[in-house]
Amino acid sequence: MRKIHNFINGSSVSFSKNELIVDDPSTGEGIAKVVLSSVEDFNKVIESSKKAQVIWSQTTPLKRSRILSNYKNLIEKNINELASIVSEEHGKTLADAKGSVTRGLEVVEFACGIPHLLKGEFSQNVGTNIDSWSIRQPLGICAGITPFNFPAMVPMWMYPIAIACGNSFILKPSEKDPSCSLRLAELFSEAGLPDGIFNVINGDKEVVNLILNSQDISSVSFVGSTPVAKYIYETSAKNGKRVQALGGAKNHLVVMPDANLNQAVDGIIGAGYGSAGERCMAISVAVAVGDIADELVSKIHSEAQKLKVSPWTDENSDMGPVISKEHKEKIENYISIGVKEGATLVEDGRKFKIQGYENGYFVGPTLFDNVTKDMTIYKEEIFGPVVSVIRAKNYDEAINLVNDHDYGNGTSIYTSDGEISRHFTTHSKIGMVGVNVPIPVPMAFHSFGGWKQSLFGDHSVHGMEGIHFYTKLKTVTSRWPKSIQSGPEFVLPTN
Ligand code: NAD
Repeated sequence: MRKIHNFINGSSVSFSKNELIVDDPSTGEGIAKVVLSSVEDFNKVIESSKKAQVIWSQTTPLKRSRILSNYKNLIEKNINELASIVSEEHGKTLADAKGSVTRGLEVVEFACGIPHLLKGEFSQNVGTNIDSWSIRQPLGICAGITPFNFPAMVPMWMYPIAIACGNSFILKPSEKDPSCSLRLAELFSEAGLPDGIFNVINGDKEVVNLILNSQDISSVSFVGSTPVAKYIYETSAKNGKRVQALGGAKNHLVVMPDANLNQAVDGIIGAGYGSAGERCMAISVAVAVGDIADELVSKIHSEAQKLKVSPWTDENSDMGPVISKEHKEKIENYISIGVKEGATLVEDGRKFKIQGYENGYFVGPTLFDNVTKDMTIYKEEIFGPVVSVIRAKNYDEAINLVNDHDYGNGTSIYTSDGEISRHFTTHSKIGMVGVNVPIPVPMAFHSFGGWKQSLFGDHSVHGMEGIHFYTKLKTVTSRWPKSIQSGPEFVLPTN
C-alpha cells in the first residue's frame, strides 16, 4: 500500500512508525497509509521553518510575488491531476474537485499582488518636521489545521497569503485525505519556493497539540467542526498565539412566495446535495415562506430523485459517497432521529446501495418536510445529503429562524422584492449572505468567515482580512532635527 509521508524542508520524509489507513470512500477499501507524525517529525519541521523564514522575510515582496506567479501556472498545468487526487480520497465528483482547486488558485492569484497589498500608510507632518508611517511585517511561523471536506481549497485559503506576507507555513491537513496537500507543496517547491517555507506535517490530534503548545509558532488558522474550533481557539489564545478558528454551519435558504421557484429549487438541489452535503456552505435548511411550501417540497423531491449518486470515476455522477463508514452511520442515525421526533421523511437516503460498490459510504439524497426548530435535525449540523424544509408563516418568522440559530456561516434569500432583500442583507446575523444565489462564497479578494458558532477569532480568511491576520502592524514616527554636520549657517530653501 502507498505510504504518505510528510513534506519537510523540500523532501518527502517521515520518522514516526505510526500510521493510519486512508480509504477510498467509494469502495470502502484502504488505498494508502498516512504517517501519524511524532515529536521527532515535528521538531524537524520547526527547525526547517525557523531557519528558512529569516531569509524569506527579507526577500522582496516582488520576488515572492514572482514565485507565486510561477506557482499559479504550475497549478493550472496540473489541475486535472490535483482534482483526481482530491476525488480519489474524498469521493466528490471530478467537476466539484476541479472547481475547488480553482477557488484555491484564485487565492494564489490574489497573493501575487503582495507588493501592492503590503503597502502601508504615510502621513507627512503629523507634527512640525515629523512624519509617521505604518508597515506590515510577517509574524514568523504560521500554522494551519484543515478539514477533510476541501483538501485543496481550504489549505489554499491560508498558506499562499501567509507565505506571500513573508512567513513560513506549517500545514496539518486532514488525516482522511492528506495526499493533495503534499502535491501542492511539491509544486510550490518546483515554482521556486525555498525549502522550509512550506512544510506539511501529517497526523491527528497529537500533532495538533504539538502545534498549539509550540513556543515557535506565532499563529494558528483552523477550519473544521465547532467543538474542535473552540478548543483550538481557547488553547491557542491561552498560549499567546494569534488565532482564527472557523467552525461548523447550518445554512438556511429562505424562499419567499414571490421567488422564482425553479431557480430556488435549482439552488437548493446544488447547494444541498452537491458534494454529498459535505460543504460548510451547504444549504441544509430550506425555509418555505407562506403558501409556497407544498409546491417547493414537491419540486425539490422530484429533482432530488433525478440525482445520480455514483463514484467519482463515473463522469455523469452528481454526488459521490460521504467520507467514512462512521460518518455514514452518523448521518443515517440523524435521519432516524428526525423520523422519531416527528418530521415527515419525504425521501429516505438510508441503506442506499450501488451494485459493485456495496461497501462504499453512500447515502442517498434525503428530504424532510415539516421540520420544527426544537428538532435535533434542525439544531445540529448533519454534514450530509439531508435537506430539511421548515415552514414559516411570513418573512418575520423566517428571518427570526435564521438569526436565532447558533450557527452563522452562510444564508441566502430568494425573492423578487428589493425591500425584503435589503432588509435581509442588513439584518441577518450571518457572516456571508446571498440574494438569489444559493452559496454566497466570497471571492479570494473578499474575505470568508461566519459569525456566532461558525467562527472564533477576530479575522476571517483571505482577502485583506488574510493580509492583516498574517502580519503585525508597526507604526513609525520620525523627526529629523537640523543636521549637526551642515553647521548653523546652512539654511535650506523654503520653496
Ligand atoms: P474536524 O473538526 O473533525 O477536523 C478538522 C481538523 O482538526 C483535522 O485536521 C483533524 O485532524 C483535527 N482534529 C480533529 N479532532 C481533533 C481534536 N479533538 N483535537 C485536535 N485536533 C483535532 O472536522 P472535519 O470532520 O475534518 O470537517 C468537517 C467540519 O468542518 C464540519 O463541521 C464543517 O462545517 C467544517 N468546515 C467549516 C468550514 C468553514 O469555513 N467554516 C469550512 C470547511 C469545513
